[in-house]
Amino acid sequence: MNDILIAGGGLAGATAATALAQAGREVTLIERAATPAHKICGEFLSAEAQASLSRIGFDCARLGGQRITHVRLSRGTRSIIARLPFEGLGITRKTLDEALLQHAAQAGVNILRGHAIRAIDFTTANSKAGFRLELDRAAPRAAAALFLATGKHDARGIPRPGRPSRLVGFKTYFQLSPAQHQALAGQVEIFMFPGGYAGMQLVETGEANLCFLAEPALLARAAGKFPALLDLLCALCPQLGQRLAGAVATLPAPLTIARVPYGFVYRPDRRAPPGLFRLGDQSAVIPSFTGDGMAIALHSAGLAADFHLHGATSHAYHHRLARDVRFQIHRAGALYTAARLPPLAACFFAAARLIPQILPLCASLTRVPTAARLEFST
Ligand SMILES: Cc1cc2nc3c(=O)[nH]c(=O)nc-3n(C[C@H](O)[C@H](O)[C@H](O)COP(=O)(O)OP(=O)(O)OC[C@H]3O[C@@H](n4cnc5c(N)ncnc54)[C@H](O)[C@@H]3O)c2cc1C
Repeated sequence: MNDILIAGGGLAGATAATALAQAGREVTLIERAATPAHKICGEFLSAEAQASLSRIGFDCARLGGQRITHVRLSRGTRSIIARLPFEGLGITRKTLDEALLQHAAQAGVNILRGHAIRAIDFTTANSKAGFRLELDRAAPRAAAALFLATGKHDARGIPRPGRPSRLVGFKTYFQLSPAQHQALAGQVEIFMFPGGYAGMQLVETGEANLCFLAEPALLARAAGKFPALLDLLCALCPQLGQRLAGAVATLPAPLTIARVPYGFVYRPDRRAPPGLFRLGDQSAVIPSFTGDGMAIALHSAGLAADFHLHGATSHAYHHRLARDVRFQIHRAGALYTAARLPPLAACFFAAARLIPQILPLCASLTRVPTAARLEFST
């Protein structure tokens, strides 16, 4: 039997695995993707996320991400620009997640790639038998402790409560025209439109990441066709149309996601096995673009590893994590609602035009608090 199994090798899984291996524990990580792959994400890596990565000796700067110092909010034909209260990085998840997995391997983590976890049996978790994972094309694995880091959707055997959002998420990349590339440099741009919102920024490849959430009604108006949907968004938000004028799409098709349980925060459950640690999106899901999903995933990973190494139970860890992130997620939920409902979006935009400092304030209010990140203490 293994000491610790990590289910999922995204940001949360790879970070927890590294922290545990650096402390001398025997760790096996199982990741279903056999090779580096794109993931749906706005790819805005906040300062908090970068700080969490540096705690495990991982230097994001060497990956060559694009520095982001300003936020621009665009609605209709108008824009507001403000300085962010921190510096972010535009970096593709394909590059970041792969580099983190390599970092985990260097720390001594045994990585099993290309094998999906089919089912998790935790009925014997309170006995010596521990957790048992059924894998695709590989023998089952068992361990005394399980770190569940499989991302947004439920793992079979361990369902997760939470109401899925109606909005559908899309991500793609564009090579912008030289003038638009220059205009976007150093900024993350949020476009508000009725029925959703979009984010755009440059990443380390020099492409622009365009990631958006849209109501199913908009997809229906575009007859389910992505080019028609983009045309519709550009008509609803002429600033987006301006950015995309002369741009060339660089992915053959966009990545999509649906039924994300935005606002979910795992409530500690005394009946859950004490060795089951939920990480990242399995523990809390902050609405996209309004918050700090990667920072929460990384914070949860460091915290869970720390609690486990100190002999604390997962119940104690889940209580602490919920306390650390609950308020940020509620505030991000309010912004998420305001951004996609036209009357609220109009009020928010008008207020931000009068007082642009509202934008950095919103960014600050949806972060993992510094104090929570600095003292990992059981
Ligand atoms: C549209 C959108 C935009 C976003 N934009 C941003 C942003 O700009 N900035 C930000 O900070 N956050 C953003 N987020 C949030 C961020 O992407 C997530 O919070 C973060 O990826 C969570 O990390 P994770 O490790 O929990 O999950 P993931 O990164 O999803 O990793 C889960 C891993 O588990 C693996 N896996 C899944 N199932 C199995 C299985 N059965 N067997 C084996 N392996 C499995 C997957 O292959 C994956 O590698 C965005 C989210 C969305 C949906």
